[in-house]
Amino acid sequence: MEALNAFKRNEYTGENRCTPCTAVNVGIAIILAGAAGVAAGTGVGIVFFLVALALIYFRGYLVPGTPALTKRYLSASVLELFGKEPVAGRASRSIDADAATEEQLVAIGALTDAEAPALTDSFATAWEAAIEGIRSEDIDESVLRTLFGTDDVSRHAATGAVIDGNQSIRWISEWALIADVAAGRLLAERGSGWETLSPNDRIALLRSLRLFIRVCPACGGTIDVTERTVDPCCERPHTLIEVACSDCETPLADDAVVGIDDDAPGRLRAIRE
Ligand SMILES: [Zn+2]
Repeated sequence: MEALNAFKRNEYTGENRCTPCTAVNVGIAIILAGAAGVAAGTGVGIVFFLVALALIYFRGYLVPGTPALTKRYLSASVLELFGKEPVAGRASRSIDADAATEEQLVAIGALTDAEAPALTDSFATAWEAAIEGIRSEDIDESVLRTLFGTDDVSRHAATGAVIDGNQSIRWISEWALIADVAAGRLLAERGSGWETLSPNDRIALLRSLRLFIRVCPACGGTIDVTERTVDPCCERPHTLIEVACSDCETPLADDAVVGIDDDAPGRLRAIRE
């Protein structure tokens, strides 16, 4: 068993097994075993197939380099069939989705400009005052109904809700939720079409806005923006952005964008600065 464990590639098996890579390799094994069976007899074909399956089981793949190959050649839609949802969709949909979110926030005076976005001073001041105002408020379902403009909201635990029966939202912390309620009230006050937005669009705007928060709603501390890169199997590398208080460490926002380092989108570089 020791020898088998040494042979086993943990990065491609068990929890880390890549379903599309495994499927592609089993397909290749069937074709090669069939060819071997025709050329050298059925017995050889069967033995070849069993050895190939063992290799796939213990090493995660038969053909070396498969993880990189599926990442490059299998389209996102095929990978989704295997449950490989892109990282960007998993974390949040705001910043990478389209420029429109930031442009809307610029249009309503919350961000300075879409190319190098930052909170405008007037919005930042009003947002902090609004957060202060609701600090002790009970954020119940009626507050969330107003925030998302729909009657169908059910609260789940302190930081989750289901909207319109099918869309679930999870906030990264209770303070992130409070920041969103405060920002939603400000955006509603300022008009600019907030009332006409769907719950989805409101969520996207609030998530995007929260990436730029300047002051911790929990303790008034300064904000740290950290980044780390992830290179998941079968997907392009991503940069994860995490926005948290530098004093009390309350997490406030996060996002994932496709691309790392110089390949990262311009808007990500703007947040870094
Ligand atoms: Zn704090």
